[in-house]
Amino acid sequence: MNTYESSMSKLRFAIMGGTFDPIHYGHLAAAEEVRVGLNCQKVIFIPSGNPPHKKGCVRTDEAHRYDMTLLATASNPYFEVSDIEMNRNGYTYTLDTIKKLNKYYGNEVELFFITGADALLELETWYKVEQLLKLCSFIAVTRPGYDKSKLEQKLYHLQSKYNSELYIMDVPGLSISSTDLRKRIEQGTSIRYLVPEAVEQYISDHKLYRK
Ligand code: NAP
Repeated sequence: MNTYESSMSKLRFAIMGGTFDPIHYGHLAAAEEVRVGLNCQKVIFIPSGNPPHKKGCVRTDEAHRYDMTLLATASNPYFEVSDIEMNRNGYTYTLDTIKKLNKYYGNEVELFFITGADALLELETWYKVEQLLKLCSFIAVTRPGYDKSKLEQKLYHLQSKYNSELYIMDVPGLSISSTDLRKRIEQGTSIRYLVPEAVEQYISDHKLYRK
């Protein structure tokens, strides 16, 4: 499904979930593209707490990832950052996050969860996916040149199996990746113009991602 039809009477909030380790211009461009494309009233960035699929992976402290997300989004009045997944005990499941948001905002708000295409390919491994797909729509954002054939098949499968709302959106600026940024910093290469200046400064001040 490529059209973003829905009940126009409801407010639309996009949820930008991610590790954001670190946040970069690709994430910001994706959020803005979805906000405008779907006519959302706001985008709520939610740095992930302790997601089950990152078991044992070294990640930067959540307080740093949260602060960098705050700095990166500060200049956009439509962007907000939530600490809903911070300081939660045990694994943080997207279902629990969406349930909390639904309870908080009520029935007048429709939620769209934005995430990377690769994460969406694994959606059926997520905690209680059937329930999750009933509570929000999903937007898979893709990098330029991304081969969408597998993703389209997956979306079709998910839509027919769960009667759910899932969309694909191409984002021109998404060729930046957090993995590449961490590598660059480790190797002493510049990350200028790939992340907002304030984030670059924060990384430098806190000596993040160095060997
Ligand atoms: P990831 O596996 O680190 O990222 C997969 C790919 O998607 C990477 O290329 C990543 O690029 C990109 N990506 C991730 N979030 C993005 C976003 N919001 N916009 C654009 N690209 C994005 O995925 P993750 O960041 O840990 O997880 C994504 C979200 O899914 C989080 O909110 C997480 O909690 C949720 N999740 C939930 C469950 C569950 O409930 N069981 C399981 C898995 C994931 P970058 O590295 O450049 O960001």
